[in-house]
Amino acid sequence: MRIVINGGHCPGRDCGALGRISQEAEITRELMAAVAGYLRAVGYEVLEVQENDLSQVVKESNDFEADLFVAIHCNGAANRNARGTEVYYFSPKGAIVAQCIQKQIVNSLETLDRGIKESATFYVLKQTNCIAVLVETAFITNEEDEKFLLVKRNEFARAIARGITDYHVILVQEG
Ligand SMILES: [Zn+2]
Repeated sequence: MRIVINGGHCPGRDCGALGRISQEAEITRELMAAVAGYLRAVGYEVLEVQENDLSQVVKESNDFEADLFVAIHCNGAANRNARGTEVYYFSPKGAIVAQCIQKQIVNSLETLDRGIKESATFYVLKQTNCIAVLVETAFITNEEDEKFLLVKRNEFARAIARGITDYHVILVQEG
């Protein structure tokens, strides 16, 4: 299975959502590298993509002939009380991956479970040729979630990687 891990936004060009002491693009860069590392360690072919230009992200994923595309983001909201984890998908198979990743994050980090959500608004989910999901790990704009993202970053990365391998097991079982 060939997997693209896309860190949301791009340090220095598009910082994404801002927390009190951190910015989304920096966190997603580190999460991307950590998730890719865990997946490579168990034998997957992984491409890391973090670009300001989303059409370039999609092109790199499609050129790589990925079987799975996973975008990693931190959520942001004007309401500083908003917190928790949600995973977006576009296709029915995407829902299976989304559920695997959602479950692993919520179970291991005990973030608020906001559930998986179908969405046609994310460009990368619609334009990539493969099954694609977008993980909103936690709210960088919420004090407690931001602390989680900073202190427990490695647990987030491991949970995302485990969610992906859980999905692969389901695929194999379904034949
Ligand atoms: Zn984002």
